[in-house]
Amino acid sequence: MGTLQYFNPDELQVVNTSVELAEEVVSNHYKLSASQLSKLNYDIKTLKELSAEEIVDEHFAQIIRYSAKRKDKVLDTFVKDFYKICFQDHIIIPTLKTNPELDLLTFSLYIASHELIHIIRFRHFLQQFDAPVKERMAEEARVHAKTHEILSDVSIDGVEAVLKFYEDWRNLPHDVEKS
Ligand SMILES: [Zn+2]
Repeated sequence: MGTLQYFNPDELQVVNTSVELAEEVVSNHYKLSASQLSKLNYDIKTLKELSAEEIVDEHFAQIIRYSAKRKDKVLDTFVKDFYKICFQDHIIIPTLKTNPELDLLTFSLYIASHELIHIIRFRHFLQQFDAPVKERMAEEARVHAKTHEILSDVSIDGVEAVLKFYEDWRNLPHDVEKS
């Protein structure tokens, strides 16, 4: 892993804004109340708050599921996992540089919305966290399609460029599903 590049304070503020916006549009879409949203039990962190195992070079973000430590057979079904959405600053920053049509607010909005949709689908048992690779690829396509659907209704400058950037992501995994 090369030198890590972190969001500066201004960028962190933009990311925070985009996360709040993502929570708003995604929970509106799924008609989640504030308390239902908080029961999803997740947190969104950027690179400076990630441990070495949470850092990857292949994705803009990743979700890590942490199970409750206590192994109580009787209570097992009631134990709630915690999802940590890990933003990879060092992958996002250079991508914005090489794709000047993208801006951090809307790019980060896409990433946060996408990861939130994953978590909602895990929580509602629409998808297993540990699904086989092929199924995960198909799910990836579904989540990109859903992200596209939700963000298409958001009128902020830059959203269109982001949706265009992700066009290939939406199409590619469908081929995998068919094969
Ligand atoms: Zn995904």
